[in-house]
Amino acid sequence: MKPEVIIISIASDNYCYLIRSGNDAAVIDPAESDPVMAEVEKRNLNLQYILATHHHSDHTAGIPEIKRKTGAQVYGGDKKIKSIDKVFLDGESFLLGDIEIVVMSMPGHTRHQVAYYLPGYNMIFTGDTLFGAGCGRIFEGSADQLYNSLMKISGLADDTLIYFGHEYTLENLEFASMVDEGNQEVGKRLEEVRQLRRENKATVPSTVMLEKATNPFLRVHTIGIRRYLGMVDRSAVAVFEELRKRKDRF
Ligand code: ZN
Ligand code: FE
Repeated sequence: MKPEVIIISIASDNYCYLIRSGNDAAVIDPAESDPVMAEVEKRNLNLQYILATHHHSDHTAGIPEIKRKTGAQVYGGDKKIKSIDKVFLDGESFLLGDIEIVVMSMPGHTRHQVAYYLPGYNMIFTGDTLFGAGCGRIFEGSADQLYNSLMKISGLADDTLIYFGHEYTLENLEFASMVDEGNQEVGKRLEEVRQLRRENKATVPSTVMLEKATNPFLRVHTIGIRRYLGMVDRSAVAVFEELRKRKDRF
């Protein structure tokens, strides 16, 4: 059965997701328990899994209570995740109902970061690796690792839906419009996102195609961004690293 994705907005900018297949469900990155349990109970769902993209508390703080209340199994890629039952390796998968969920290793933001990919439905949950028009900060990994993780996402089919971990899209597009000045797709998306945020609406999901057109971190090969940074002849990773540093200070 085709999965339904329920977006749960937590605190000022955190996104947590419920993936539902019939009555079976998985929750991704529960920063808190109460808003998740409310959605689970309202729909009478059988919560099978609690999936964490990484160990940061704004993605895991709700896990112990949800596990206690539902008995759901906690999955992830990092043994540091609270109450984890199973640590997955790159490419391993499991089933939610009849939906295959593949764990993709995405080091960079943290060392054992993962994304959850549904190959049958072209959907990916990226946590803090890729945001709308942006990417996560490099905390535990290297620029090289995060760049390669982002390339795995941009290599998926153009119509892949991307569900990310925080609502940072507007600020990211403001940065993008500075470093990728001549890009009309950035200007267009900025207008759309300004309107959505005025109405307090989420900018998820994005798509691989939209990110390749507007996300400067996926566009380090383009001449406009290279000229802006004065790095026309440098490697993709060097340009990426400089861009990430500029964004840290933006
Ligand atoms: Zn994080
Ligand atoms: Fe986060």
